[in-house]
Amino acid sequence: DVTATKGNEFEDYFLKRELLMGIYEKGFERPSPIQEESIPIALTGTDILARAKNGTGKTAAFCIPALEKIDSDYNVIQVVILVPTRELALQTSQVCKELGKHLNIQVMATTGGTSLRDDIMRLHQPVHLLVGTPGRILDLAKKGICNLKNSSVLVMDEADKLLSHEYQPSVEQLITFLPPNRQMLMYSATFPVTVEDFKDRYLRKPYIINLMDELTLKGITQYYAFVEERQKVHCLTTLFSKLEINQSIIFCNSVTRVEMLAKKITELGYSCFYIHAKMLQDHRNRVFHDFRNGACRNLVCTDLFTRGIDIQAVNLVVNFDFPKSSETYLHRVGRSGRFGHFGLAVNLITHDDRFNLYRIEQELGAKIKRLPHLIGQATY
Ligand code: ADP
Ligand code: MG
Repeated sequence: DVTATKGNEFEDYFLKRELLMGIYEKGFERPSPIQEESIPIALTGTDILARAKNGTGKTAAFCIPALEKIDSDYNVIQVVILVPTRELALQTSQVCKELGKHLNIQVMATTGGTSLRDDIMRLHQPVHLLVGTPGRILDLAKKGICNLKNSSVLVMDEADKLLSHEYQPSVEQLITFLPPNRQMLMYSATFPVTVEDFKDRYLRKPYIINLMDELTLKGITQYYAFVEERQKVHCLTTLFSKLEINQSIIFCNSVTRVEMLAKKITELGYSCFYIHAKMLQDHRNRVFHDFRNGACRNLVCTDLFTRGIDIQAVNLVVNFDFPKSSETYLHRVGRSGRFGHFGLAVNLITHDDRFNLYRIEQELGAKIKRLPHLIGQATY
């Protein structure tokens, strides 16, 4: 069970009544373990470095204290939430808007690939909480379009990703635009050793939360099937016909393969969308939005989609192409089985993937079983 270990209630945190209303209206009855660990500490102003598995409610674990701290009468940016992808920025800003529905707090999402002009216009209006990707926010800060000197809270979601080569320079530069006494809240399901260095440089006596002792992919049944490359599509359509699927996400290792596969399964008569980083932002947003609303059952994508995305209806993840690292595996497979829902992951393994499979299985301590021949509802 992923809810309530300490038996706390949201009332125990002395939150503003309007915030509590937003929480309950969102359907949250009790704080999850990461929320129980995180909310009271974050409210005290302490820095946090938190690790907790996928789908356990990290977003609300930082959004609730962030919203509580914002003074809506004071029209400056008070909280910045950094995330690695555009989709995650939109999703997170949506969560903030919902939780803060009765608070009169202005939330703005900003990401690369959209018009800077629109952001400038938007920033003429009050903004209390800014959610976005590091590159764009840095750009806004450098150009003097947004003022971050009153941002007393900086959240880094998917923090290890934000500290990878791709983002770290922007993140570190961005931090210089915030006040020196800001509070830092960092969250992820994976934390490699590289964060140690960052932690020592930027965090002040952080409170460390580690809720990873439990099996990381708990609640997700994982299978593999040995196949030849040319059998993969057939194998996939067999899964479609044999399983009861709400929605599925199918991962490929490249943009070309995503397009190839989406075309094939569409031709075979299955409804499917696809999404990858080379698509125009508008198009990406539309696909993401429509998939979330259930307009389509299957989504084919690259790893663009692996982090943080939360769509509860997804109960099947297929690694059409097997990932190279256990970290990627974890983030992909974690797209199903959100918040205690049941999930299934199927890995299509070619001859060349075998050793990767064994290694990842070992690294994660995961149990990946052979797919039974006549897989049916009864199997999971
Ligand atoms: P994480 O970031 O840890 O992977 P999310 O923050 O995306 O997880 O949350 C996963 C799902 O759990 C979301 O759909 C969210 O609405 C739901 N959720 C979060 N906290 C609670 C709660 N306290 N009670 C019920 N559902 C919750
Ligand atoms: Mg998350």
